[in-house]
Amino acid sequence: MNYEPVIGLEFHAELSTDTKIYCSCKNEFGQEVNTSCCPVCTGMPGTLPVLNKKVVDYAIKAGLALNCSITRRSKQDRKNYFYPDLPKAYQVSQFDLPLCTDGWVEIEVDGVKKRIGITRIHIEEDAGKLIHAPLGNASLVDFNRCGVPLIEIVSEPDLRSAKEARAYMETLKTILSYIGVSDCKMEEGSLRCDINVSLRPEGQDEFGTRTEMKNVSTFSGGERAIEYEIARQTEILNAGGTIDQETRRWDDVKGENVLLRSKEEAHDYRYFPEPDLMPIVVDEEWIQSIRAELPELPGVKKARYLAEYGITDYEAGLIVDNKEMAHFYEECIALGANPKTVANWVLGDISRFLKDAEMSFGQIPFGADRLCALIKEIDGGAISGTAGKKVLSAMFETAKTPAELIEELGLKQISDTSALEALVEQVIAANPQSLDDYKNGKTRALGFLVGQCMKESRGKGNPQVINQLVLQRLEAYKNA
Ligand code: ADP
Ligand code: MG
Ligand code: ZN
Repeated sequence: MNYEPVIGLEFHAELSTDTKIYCSCKNEFGQEVNTSCCPVCTGMPGTLPVLNKKVVDYAIKAGLALNCSITRRSKQDRKNYFYPDLPKAYQVSQFDLPLCTDGWVEIEVDGVKKRIGITRIHIEEDAGKLIHAPLGNASLVDFNRCGVPLIEIVSEPDLRSAKEARAYMETLKTILSYIGVSDCKMEEGSLRCDINVSLRPEGQDEFGTRTEMKNVSTFSGGERAIEYEIARQTEILNAGGTIDQETRRWDDVKGENVLLRSKEEAHDYRYFPEPDLMPIVVDEEWIQSIRAELPELPGVKKARYLAEYGITDYEAGLIVDNKEMAHFYEECIALGANPKTVANWVLGDISRFLKDAEMSFGQIPFGADRLCALIKEIDGGAISGTAGKKVLSAMFETAKTPAELIEELGLKQISDTSALEALVEQVIAANPQSLDDYKNGKTRALGFLVGQCMKESRGKGNPQVINQLVLQRLEAYKNA
C-alpha cells in the first residue's frame, strides 16, 4: 500500500522583546541562572501580571507578515498542568480567541511553489528550564526563561513531505528574522518546533491518526525526524497495525524517536480565561501602524531581484535568505555597482572569508562602499581579478581602503601600452620558436607568449592589453 504523509507544524518563536511578557525582568539569553526572575514570573501568590504591549506588537507583526487576520478582541487563557519548570502550574496562553488567524505562507520546493495555511498565531509565556545533573541523581531548575514571550504559529496539515516541512521551517525563520521579532537562534532554543505526522492511503481524503514529535531543534533534524516517523508509521500500517495518537520525543543523536506519553487532549488542560488579564483589544489604527513598519518580505524581495537584477533564481534565493547579505547587496547596488558582479562577490569570496572566520554577514568589517571601490579598481583595469581577491582578503584584516591596499601590496596592474610594449618585444625575442610556430599557423603560440609576458610582469601586466600587444607584434612579423 502507498501512503501519503500529512504533516502540520507547531512553531514556537521566542520574541526578542527587552523584557518578559508579564513583568519587567530582562529577557535575555545566557544570564546567570535564576537572576532574571521576580515574584511575578516565579508565580508567587498574590502577584499580578501586566501584559507587555511590545509582545502584542510583535505578534501582530508576525501575523501580518504571514497574511493573517488580526483578532480585534482576543483573550488570554490558563493552560493548567504541573511540571517542575512551571512554578505557577499553569501557562498563560491563548485558547479559543488567538490574536491572529487564517494566514498563509508560500514555500518553494524544487522550483514548485505552494501555499501553506497558517491556522493561528497566539501569544504565550515560556516555562523555565530543567538542568539535569550529570550523575542523574538530581535536577535543578532555572526560572530565567519563565515568562519569556513566545508566539506559537500553528500550520494547517498542508505539508506532504519532509522536504516541504523543511522548506516551511526555513521560510518561517527567514520571515521572522526579516521582521525582527525573534533572533531566530535555533541553537539557543529561540525557535522550536513540534511536528505532527500522519499517513493516509493514497487517494483517501480523510486524515489518519497523527503523532506529535517534540524536541526538534534543527531544520535538518526536523527533516530526518519526519522521514523516520513516516517510515515507522508505514511499517506499523503495513503490518496491519494502527497508529496511536501519542506524543513522541525525537532523539537527534540516535536518529529515532521514543514514546513520551499518550496524547493529551485540550480538555485535559482545563483551559479557562485568565482572570487577571484584560482582553486584548486591537483597533485598525494599531494594525495600520504596524503594517507600516513591515519591511519588504523575502518572497517579494526575491521576485524583485529576479525582475530587476538579472541574477539567477538560485543566486537570488541565497542572497534573500540571509537578511544581512541582502542588505549589504542592496547597498552596493544603490551605489551603482553591477548586480551580477556584486552577487558573485557576496556569494563567492566574501561568503568564503566569512565562513573561514566564523563570522556572519552582519559582522562584515567593511562597508558596501569599500566593495564598490574594489570592483571599480578591477573594472577600471587598475588591478586584475586575482589581485582583487588579495585586496579583499586584506580588507578583512585592516580598515584600509582598496586603493591604499593596492598601493601597499604593490598590486597595481600595468595597463599602459608604452610600458608593456618593450616587455612584449623582449619576450618575443627570447622565444624565436614560438614566433616561428605562429608564422606557421600554430596560434597556440599566442597564449604561450602572453603567459610569458604575464610572468615577466610578475602578474601585474593587464592581460587584455598584453594579449592585444602580442597579437599585434606577431601579426606584424608574420606579414613582414
Ligand atoms: P495540539 O495542541 O493538540 O497539538 P494544535 O491545534 O496546537 O493541537 O496543533 C495541531 C497540529 O497538528 C497542527 O499543526 C495541525 O496542522 C496538525 N494536524 C492536525 N491533524 C493532523 C493530521 N491528521 N495529520 C498531521 N497533522 C495534523
Ligand atoms: Mg500543540
Ligand atoms: Zn519577572
